[in-house]
Amino acid sequence: MVSKKQIESAAEIIKSGGLVAFPTETVYGLGADALNPNAVAKIFIEKERPSFDPLIIHISNIKDVERLTKEHDHRVDLLAKMFWPGPLTIVLPKSDIVPDIVTSGLPTVGIRMPNNKIALDLITTAGSPIAAPSANKFGRISPTTASHVKKQLTGVECVLDGGPCQVGIESTVISLNRDGFVILREGAITSDNLQEAIPQSKEEKTKSPLASPGLLQSHYSPEKPLFILETKDMSTAGLLEYHLSNKKLPKGNGAFISFSGKKIPSFSHTEYLSKNRDLKEAAINLFSILHKLEDNLNIDYIVAESVPLEGIGRAIMDKLNKAAHRYNNK
Ligand code: AMP
Ligand code: MG
Repeated sequence: MVSKKQIESAAEIIKSGGLVAFPTETVYGLGADALNPNAVAKIFIEKERPSFDPLIIHISNIKDVERLTKEHDHRVDLLAKMFWPGPLTIVLPKSDIVPDIVTSGLPTVGIRMPNNKIALDLITTAGSPIAAPSANKFGRISPTTASHVKKQLTGVECVLDGGPCQVGIESTVISLNRDGFVILREGAITSDNLQEAIPQSKEEKTKSPLASPGLLQSHYSPEKPLFILETKDMSTAGLLEYHLSNKKLPKGNGAFISFSGKKIPSFSHTEYLSKNRDLKEAAINLFSILHKLEDNLNIDYIVAESVPLEGIGRAIMDKLNKAAHRYNNK
């Protein structure tokens, strides 16, 4: 899919302070040399991302944690051993080589090692860690294919096409306290998973509003109205229809995003998050389905069925609630 030559020329772009969009297992990232503030500034401009929203630094070698951070915490080794490369971002006190623009002025930096060969080869070949948020315009749907990236970021010339992402939603973001850990953003790696790696540390639920400034209520949004249908304990399509009738839906054609496998008769168009109620598959398909419905000119609005708040389902509902927020709070 991506040749060595393409990786080398993408790495040259990174080295000379440019931007490259590349696949990771979570979503596609828009990367720049993390240690070059002028290059990182281009990410904020291209994405139209507010400067208060910090970026995650992607590494290909665990040794980089040492030079990017200040204090050594042995729990990082345990977490890295279990989850890296993989969808876990760890927020740690930053060292002086990390430019303030990367962390939006915070004294901490988010770091992860992506589980994608193209991403890892790019970082290694560029010879520098790569700062990369998702490769979409700020607040819009995250990209899980190269064509999703090209649709939104027309100014980015180099897009490495590694096919569809294997996880499909953003990494779990955590910070470490003296005795525990805080989940700043839900993702594929759950609290139970983390507990296994660092059994002495407990999850702490209280997070200060400043702990993770980019976590806004509205995010991941399609450019057409989206509503969520709570479907706890509902067994028939008739009941779904009944609950839908209590919602103030816009005029026009609606599309239904089904998790249970049910169809609602009044919707002409149905997309299935998963064939057999598999939450991992639903996570992989979520952003892709939202992109598809956003692009479909025959669809005026979208209704998504809620999914169970278990495992990666918590992260899926977090994305859906944020994607629906701007249309449900007018
Ligand atoms: P994105 O790159 O768009 O997937 O999201 C990055 C998110 O990670 C930010 O919006 C923050 O919520 C979180 N994050 C990154 N760096 C830090 C940090 N230093 N402290 C707290 N949260 C962070
Ligand atoms: Mg993002």
